Amino acid sequence: MAVLELFPDAKLGVGPAIEEGFYYDFLLPRALAPEDLAELEKRMRAIIAKDLPFTHEKVSPKTAQTFFEKKDQPFKLELIDDFVREGATELGLEKTGEVFTDLCRGGHVESTKDIGVVKLLSIAGAYWRGDEKREQLERIYGATFATQEELDAFLKQREEAEKRDHRKLGVELDLFTFSDLVGPGLPLFTPRGTVIREELENFVQSLQVPMGYQRVRIPHITKKALYETSGHWQKFKDELFKITSREGHEFAVKPMNCPHHTQIYASRKRSYRELPLRFSEVTAVYRDEQTGELSGLSRVRMITQDDAHVFCRMNQVEEEAMKVWDIVDGFYAPFKMPLAVRFSRHDPDHFEKYLGTPAIWKEAEDQMRRIIEKRGATDVIDGAGEAAMYGPKIDFIASDAIGRAWQLATIQLDFNLPERFNLTCVNEEGKEERIVMIHRAISGAVERFMAILIEHYAGKFPTWLSPVQVSVLTIADEYIPYAREVVDALATNGIRVELNDQNETLGKKLRDAKLGKAPYVLVIGKKESEAKTVAVNSRDQGDKGSVQLDDFIRMIKEEIKNRA
Ligand code: ZN
Repeated sequence: MAVLELFPDAKLGVGPAIEEGFYYDFLLPRALAPEDLAELEKRMRAIIAKDLPFTHEKVSPKTAQTFFEKKDQPFKLELIDDFVREGATELGLEKTGEVFTDLCRGGHVESTKDIGVVKLLSIAGAYWRGDEKREQLERIYGATFATQEELDAFLKQREEAEKRDHRKLGVELDLFTFSDLVGPGLPLFTPRGTVIREELENFVQSLQVPMGYQRVRIPHITKKALYETSGHWQKFKDELFKITSREGHEFAVKPMNCPHHTQIYASRKRSYRELPLRFSEVTAVYRDEQTGELSGLSRVRMITQDDAHVFCRMNQVEEEAMKVWDIVDGFYAPFKMPLAVRFSRHDPDHFEKYLGTPAIWKEAEDQMRRIIEKRGATDVIDGAGEAAMYGPKIDFIASDAIGRAWQLATIQLDFNLPERFNLTCVNEEGKEERIVMIHRAISGAVERFMAILIEHYAGKFPTWLSPVQVSVLTIADEYIPYAREVVDALATNGIRVELNDQNETLGKKLRDAKLGKAPYVLVIGKKESEAKTVAVNSRDQGDKGSVQLDDFIRMIKEEIKNRA
């Protein structure tokens, strides 16, 4: 309404709620400037004060069409066409007072006075439907809260998040890069960034091997037939990268790993004695996200999954989910990210939406409920009706250092793929028995997890994760030989160390080391060379004075081992 007051000819795009507030896209006669946001906010506050009721009306597509034709709103008409093509027979019109009507499926507060405080946050360019061949629109981002205090807290968090922005820090710390030749959404990890990825991968591996997880390897492409059987050809149709072979066969680059993994299970007859089988793999999947949606490492086209699939019998679900939970707890402890749990269950009033029988769902959900109780999880978010059509799940939501919540780990039951691929085991009676699959992720997408960690630590990684754990500096060239001895001793002990022996002032070298955020800087001068010590400068604890080299090595190894 406020935008239409200012620009009566504005064409309305879409305006969804997003994780942090909302946006609305408009085609406007001119680009917006920051001053416009202040003016729009003022008008929004005036509209809110008018206490206008929101009313929802269901109309036929024809009525909606006539309405938006009269209003000359081409984007809305395009959306209506799409809804009709998808089989909609009824569409929603949401009215604000008598002045403004939008195409909307509803779910509004009752009146504008319920909106609370609003803040317009930023402006960005956005192509209509994310398609760069279409109109460029002005996207206005905003947020709204019940109280001013909540808004203030949000703005403060946002300011802190901007300082920690992984896109900025990732470049400063030389962790990853993008190339125009490779393309958007396809991050390239530098040696430093790769160190972090491998540390994370090894950590998960160290936790899951004792639980009986085995590594597998699969190709990154597949014949169309695999995805026709799994249903992904249909489900991912717009996001699939497709390839045609020289013999004219259609292939797809994998957007998921599960279908491939089922084929390892199905490669031979399985006895119940072999189960559970736990296949794990850290591997990339590829999804053709729209260019406009891509952002740093958070939204990419190459998504590395720390993936695993457990193939088990129904009565093994509880024990297996417990094991995953152990891995999740073990993994998140060193990051000091508290976890909340969400239990997504089926909606008993709409059983037609789900695969499997009510008995199977009951058994599965009962097992999951018992796990949650045994774990003594508090703050369980009840996801009633939020289960996937193929099974219930438990998600873990981690809070970062500035209080943002991220859904990361997941335990997901699946009754669907075992049906589609006819996965069975031979049970005690010698009969074929349908098995279930558990999809599990610990860190979720590795790229997104890296983005979260960079911001969580503001680039100051704990020693075990730091690409460079120790930076050694010399006060003058004559101390280089001893500095090299120090570097060799550290490297021999598996510590990632870097020597800065350039002919620069100590002040400059210390500043460089600080920018690189190495947890320890060792300064080597006359005293250290003679006494075979190192002057320790800790990133987090400041100057720690001179210590024997051996003592320093023992201390840092202990710190790394404990992931302190
Ligand atoms: Zn899966």
